[in-house]
Amino acid sequence: MVQLARFPRHSLGHFPTPLERMERVEEHLRKRFPQVPNLWIKRDDCTGLATGGNKTRKLEFLVGDALERGADTLITPGAVQSNHTRQTAAAAAAVGMDCKLVLERRQVRDEDYEQSGNVLLEKILGAQIIDRLPAGADLAGAMDEIADAVERDGGNPYVIPGGGSNPVGALGYVACAEELESADIAVDWVVHTTGSCGTQAGLVAGFAAFHSRAKVLGISNRRDETAQLDAVKSLTVQTAAHLGTSDTIDDGDIRVDDRWVGGGYGVPTDEMLSAIHLLARLEGIVLDPVYTGKGFAGLLGNIAAGTFAEDENVVFLHTGGVAGLFGYRSVFDGD
Ligand SMILES: *Cc1c(COP(=O)(O)O)cnc(C)c1O
Repeated sequence: MVQLARFPRHSLGHFPTPLERMERVEEHLRKRFPQVPNLWIKRDDCTGLATGGNKTRKLEFLVGDALERGADTLITPGAVQSNHTRQTAAAAAAVGMDCKLVLERRQVRDEDYEQSGNVLLEKILGAQIIDRLPAGADLAGAMDEIADAVERDGGNPYVIPGGGSNPVGALGYVACAEELESADIAVDWVVHTTGSCGTQAGLVAGFAAFHSRAKVLGISNRRDETAQLDAVKSLTVQTAAHLGTSDTIDDGDIRVDDRWVGGGYGVPTDEMLSAIHLLARLEGIVLDPVYTGKGFAGLLGNIAAGTFAEDENVVFLHTGGVAGLFGYRSVFDGD
């Protein structure tokens, strides 16, 4: 038995998130491809925390841990348009903590990228952007310095790793696996975008612990397949150890598709743009340019390739990121 209730947790979001059928996407794809499964979307873009997203689930456990340790300041890193830093800023506000952020310029783009979208929300939420460092800078070192400064001032910092991805944060996706297990349908596949790995690690560890039939396919938005498989595997094993279910993990449970990364993290691709337009215009659901646009493109590519059987229930996990669209406004100038 998996007892999530024994871990500290602080409620931050709206759960369970809706699980909806994508009927018009199915209809559209059936005209084009011979083998289209039943398609569902799990709305983790509707977790509710300052425009929502997958980091909310992780933050419930991370903030629970931080509160238990008496922390008064959350410190975390991310790309300039990080959804994780924005949700952390909102979580800190919601529990009355300070929030200090270190942003990495993984890309050099325009003024919208630097100031709008998630950055704008972070400012409104009262977070402090301490630094914007060049790509590849030592973010962990920068956070340690900030933590030291907080301590010198008599505060109690709590450092959250990139994407909230450690065994504590990944518990949030064990909770999501539990929600999917208790859904009205038997889930055969969950397809989602994988970056810092906590989402996939939590889902895989959770489904394994529940002896579920559900398989998880991570669409990478940054690393190549080998590197992402290794990173996900390592965090899955640590998460299962934290849960006390280490014996349930099989290497074959970790599946990664790296064909949708394009030019790299946050670099737009034609497939991403088509995927965003398709879902917006068929279902009225908005994806984001950095993660879910590429993830949904990966879902469509795998449907075209016949990865899923016709009678299977395939769930696309919408991990959020909609605020990021406003940081990439110019990419949609042709619309
Ligand atoms: C962070 C993020 C992901 C990736 O989740 P990881 O747990 O980092 O792998 C996917 N989609 C969105 C919108 C995100 O912000």
